[in-house]
Amino acid sequence: MGDVAVLKQHLIDPEICIRCNSCEAACPSGAITHDDNNYVVNAGACDFGMSCLPVCPTGAIDNWRLVPSSQAYSIEQQFGWTELPAELSPELLASQGVPEEMLAAPPEATSAEAGPTPASAVTTRLNAHVPPWSAAHPYVSLYGPRAREPWIEATVAGNVRVTNRGSDYDTHHVVLDFGARPFPVLEGQSIGILPPGADDKGRPHHARQYSVASARTGERSGFNNLSLTIKRVLEDHQGRPVRGVASNYMCDLEVGDKVRVTGPFGATFLMPNHPRSNIVMICTGTGSAPMRAMTEWRRRLHKSGRFEGGKLMLFFGARSPEELPYFGPLKNLPRDLLDVNLAFSRVTGQPKRYVQDVMRERAADLAPLLGSPDTAIFVCGLRGMEEGVIAALRDIAIASGLDWDALGTALRDEGRIHFETY
Ligand SMILES: Cc1cc2nc3c(=O)[nH]c(=O)nc-3n(C[C@H](O)[C@H](O)[C@H](O)COP(=O)(O)OP(=O)(O)OC[C@H]3O[C@@H](n4cnc5c(N)ncnc54)[C@H](O)[C@@H]3O)c2cc1C
Repeated sequence: MGDVAVLKQHLIDPEICIRCNSCEAACPSGAITHDDNNYVVNAGACDFGMSCLPVCPTGAIDNWRLVPSSQAYSIEQQFGWTELPAELSPELLASQGVPEEMLAAPPEATSAEAGPTPASAVTTRLNAHVPPWSAAHPYVSLYGPRAREPWIEATVAGNVRVTNRGSDYDTHHVVLDFGARPFPVLEGQSIGILPPGADDKGRPHHARQYSVASARTGERSGFNNLSLTIKRVLEDHQGRPVRGVASNYMCDLEVGDKVRVTGPFGATFLMPNHPRSNIVMICTGTGSAPMRAMTEWRRRLHKSGRFEGGKLMLFFGARSPEELPYFGPLKNLPRDLLDVNLAFSRVTGQPKRYVQDVMRERAADLAPLLGSPDTAIFVCGLRGMEEGVIAALRDIAIASGLDWDALGTALRDEGRIHFETY
């Protein structure tokens, strides 16, 4: 038998993956894709650029298997996996014609074929893979499939609707209490929820991710609890009726119910900690959750006098005021704490306004923040918002004389611009 080429194939562990899309969003070669079941890597398109590694909150991304190149696992095979295949032994690889020296140091890359163009290549280039320099150090994956305990049980301490009744946009503020068990989180992190039951193939439901909406010291200061902002999913992204598994489970919970939680997750989308830092928060819908967390932590710092004047600017979009979570409390926050800018796209008799429109209107105030090394920008919510937001940031920067290419690179490399869209 002639010598056979070997490939160190990049794979994603379906048991740990929380389907957060961070890897797919970060991959510039479009090698990562997903179906309803799994996130997978196309061996023919992966160029081993490794942009996906630092953004994965769980480590599911960091898996490799030596295989004869001609037998690389296809994406169709990977879509069907519930766990990673076992490693092929050196003996088996050798028996298939892989030369010994290649087993010692296999080539990492296949010849990368042109992969599909990723949906948001501009975001991929701009999204930071490091946290802001002053962010606190996060704990990640304390509970999960590869941790000492697969989950932590939390008790529901509250569940209230935060969008107006009567509208079909039903969003809940859910408070989870961890009792005496440790579950430390920072603003910007998320947690996994394991819904009970099984999918239509009889497999346990995989975890769904939800951003923490409360400050690090608890939803109620000093309590070991946190809050989530959860939209009840009743139609899919194409508008077809569905009943989302985890969101409906969470929105229907009652006080005292027990919930299985994994995490915490996220080591980059983190609030800067120095009190002079400016934070520009741009969000739609439940993308407001991490913004609520950051605002609340700043409010607590403000109250305690440990605040040195960094600005908080919020751009918040929804179809109508009725669909805006936390609309009431937002209006009551002091202007010197939070500069609130709302955009509504479907109010009868009024022109459509999106977050990027309001950002452009506030260009005079945004431009100095963009030029400051103390500014961090966070974008969270609907995936469709990214393009318009980036265009608005670019236009505002250029109009004020800033070099957008240099600024974009600095924002990214210094961990000062973060996208979390789903
Ligand atoms: C980093 C991160 C943070 C997140 N934070 C939040 C958060 O704070 N609050 C929140 O409500 N959600 C958040 N999500 C989305 C959340 O993880 C779930 O995807 C969402 O709740 C749907 O889960 P489900 O089990 O109800 O629906 P599924 O049963 O998983 O899906 C049912 C159908 O609905 C579609 N679908 C999935 N999600 C949505 C959606 N958001 N809108 C419309 N259709 C959808 C699916 O494609 C599928 O066809 C976050 C996601 C990520 C990756």
